[in-house]
This record gives sequence, structure tokens and C-alpha cells, in this order.
Amino acid sequence: QKIVIAIDGYSGCGKSSTAKAVAKNLGYTYIDSGAMYRAATLYFLQQRVDLSDIDTINKALKHLEISFHTNTRTGLQETYLNGENVEQKIRSMEVSDFVSEVSKIKEVRRELVYQQQQLGRSKGVVMDGRDIGTVVFPDAELKVFMTADLEIRAKRRQKELIDNGQEVTLEEIIRNLDERDKVDSTRAESPLVRAEDAVDVDTSYLDFDDQVKK
Ligand code: C5P
Repeated sequence: QKIVIAIDGYSGCGKSSTAKAVAKNLGYTYIDSGAMYRAATLYFLQQRVDLSDIDTINKALKHLEISFHTNTRTGLQETYLNGENVEQKIRSMEVSDFVSEVSKIKEVRRELVYQQQQLGRSKGVVMDGRDIGTVVFPDAELKVFMTADLEIRAKRRQKELIDNGQEVTLEEIIRNLDERDKVDSTRAESPLVRAEDAVDVDTSYLDFDDQVKK
């Protein structure tokens, strides 16, 4: 019997890479909810949407079409925004620095949570984010809350970005992760909190294979 697995936690502690590997091992679908907030953020930046103007935000949300497609060459899942592959662009520091402000907006969350629930309705899903076990799938059969030391998370993220050709300093990343965690945990609308029935996984000193096994 297939279940829903919800993985939540702080920025950069390995949620996405773990969720991806778990989904692959189980033959499940992986859904990166953070990529959806990132794609919305990229669109708002491109359209120069004023975040204090709710009418414009609602209009922009109507024109926002996010989907995931598997790259046939690499086998990796990539994010598309209105038909364009934006997988690289949504990982830029510009988007990372802005995404938590966009994610605070009630209307944005309402729309993306709805889309996430639609994507996950057939079970056999691993979804990672900040509010998956609390808001998107409160009835998920398995909820995981991931944590890791800030500096360890930053070093891992820096390696990922450098492997992708982006030059960023460790300080910049630490600042970004720390700031996002603060905004995400203190916002009024569905803040990042551990679901009461979640299993805790601290990935600070786990290697990747053990992380996935656990
Ligand atoms: O998972 P990732 O770090 O790519 O997410 C980027 C940002 O999107 C988070 O810092 C958070 O502001 C927002 N987010 C959210 N709720 C989710 C997933 C992501 O608010 N379920």
C-alpha cells in the first residue's frame, strides 16, 4: 500500500536530495514544494510584482503555470515555469534572497498548497518543504522533521552551488539560510514548525546513504 511521506525542516539540511533518493528507491513520485515557491518568486521578479499590491499578486498567480518534467538525458526532475525550464534560475542567490518574502504571502500559499495537494492526491508521493506535514498533508502516514547544524548545511550548499558553476561565499550562504529560517519560522501564515507526530532526523553527522536509509 502506497503512502504519503512528508519531509519538513530548515533550509539546506538535505530534505530535497534525501526525498529524491527515497522516492527513487520506493518507486514514488518526488515533489519539491520549495521549487514551486522559487518559481513563483522568479516570476514575480521577472514581472516586477509589487509585493504589497494584492491585486497584482492575484493576477500574477493566475498566469503562473508550474510543472515538473524529467530530463530524459540525466533522468533528473526539472522545474518549468510557463513552459520554460527554470531549474537553474530558481537556484540563484537572487531568488534565494527573495523567496521567503514571497512565501509569507497568504494568497501565494493558498494557491501553491492547492496545487501541491492536487499533485499528491494519488499517494505514493514524497514531498519536501516547510508545511507539508502540518498544512499540505496533515494526514501523511510518515512525517519527517530534518535538522542540521547551520555551518554544515552552508558548506554542503556551497559545494552544490559551486558544482553548478555559481560562485558564492560561505558567509553569503550562512546569512541566506539563517535569514530564511528566521522568516519561515516566524511568519503568520503556516510557519515552519515541527508536526507533533514527526520523526526527527538530524543530518549533521550522517553521510548521505545513512540519511536516506534512516
Ligand atoms: O526548499 P527550498 O529551500 O528550496 O525552499 C525555498 C523557500 O520556499 C523556503 O525558504 C521557504 O521560504 C519557502 N517554502 C515554503 N513552504 C514550503 C516550501 C518552501 O514556505 N512548503
